[in-house]
Amino acid sequence: MELAKQTKESVFGKKVWFRGIIEFSNICHNNCYYCGIRSDNTEKESFIMSHDEILSCVDFIHSANYGSVVFQSGEIKSESFKDFLLTTVESTHRKYPKLGITISCGEFDRDFLKNLKLAGANRYLLRIETSNNDLYQKLHPNEMLWDDRYACLKNLQQLDYQVGTGIMIGLPGQTLDDLFHDLKFFVDNQFDMFGVGLYVTHQNTPIGSDPAVVTWWNNNKEKHFNRLLNFLSILRILLPTVNIAATTSCDVFHPSGRMMVLNSSGNIIMPVVTPQKYRHHYLLYDGKPCMDETKEICYDCTIAKLKKAGLEPALGEHGTSPFYIKKNT
Ligand code: SAH
Repeated sequence: MELAKQTKESVFGKKVWFRGIIEFSNICHNNCYYCGIRSDNTEKESFIMSHDEILSCVDFIHSANYGSVVFQSGEIKSESFKDFLLTTVESTHRKYPKLGITISCGEFDRDFLKNLKLAGANRYLLRIETSNNDLYQKLHPNEMLWDDRYACLKNLQQLDYQVGTGIMIGLPGQTLDDLFHDLKFFVDNQFDMFGVGLYVTHQNTPIGSDPAVVTWWNNNKEKHFNRLLNFLSILRILLPTVNIAATTSCDVFHPSGRMMVLNSSGNIIMPVVTPQKYRHHYLLYDGKPCMDETKEICYDCTIAKLKKAGLEPALGEHGTSPFYIKKNT
């Protein structure tokens, strides 16, 4: 971890870049066995924020000087949703041409991804979840294919997006060998950014409601958190110039989980900007942090934590992945 920290600081110093994340809808047509917003979760109260609500969050991101926005939602497979997303990106880009725009809404066809890019989106986050095709199929229904997700990542790269991917660590059935292959997959495919999280159970999912999984998960929490810190440290040493985010799920395992990542391998933080009234409905896993906070509180808290950790908030900066810049010059 010390070598990862030195490697990171030689590229980025103490700086940490911001991506304000707006989780604008929990509607999802997919049915991933681990995810709290899966389509079969009947306990979920569905929402989609209005265009004006989203833009007012974007206004906040601009005034807070976060430098970039992430639009995240479930995967909604309808033409009307595509139009909605396109309009949202267009309006954001027109109003704030300098703001970085990241999309994290699942898999789309190449033509639509191209249109989103033309509308102003410049980054895309799509976790592969695991590089092991067999494990992927155990975690998803048959109609969800690892090959489709990979093809989408390749399309994004060909369209010149800055592409971020990632996995969950601590998935039931995941081995150390899988993690080794995940690292190899990341390096071989030249991704620009990474969001690696920890698997956390959700009570209304097929995997997370299994008492044996819950017991196993509780007994292995600490081990998985350490595994994440080590995994990201190796990733940083392998790819010194990529962007690595400290993901929210780290704080489920340790109150300073995200800061521990930022004090070793990470250089990106994603404060939640979703309006407070929607936060409880965007529950990917149980015990998600920042549920009762407002976007203003998340701002104050993030800045205070970074300063306390001796890190420097890089407000007002895009934070483009140097790996991406180098690849394209
Ligand atoms: N629908 C979009 C993004 C929303 S889900 C997509 O498909 O990319 C964002 C991420 O949350 C997923 O990629 C997954 O890695 C993570 N996630 C889902 N359920 C989780 C759980 N139970 N524990 C931890 N992370 C989870």
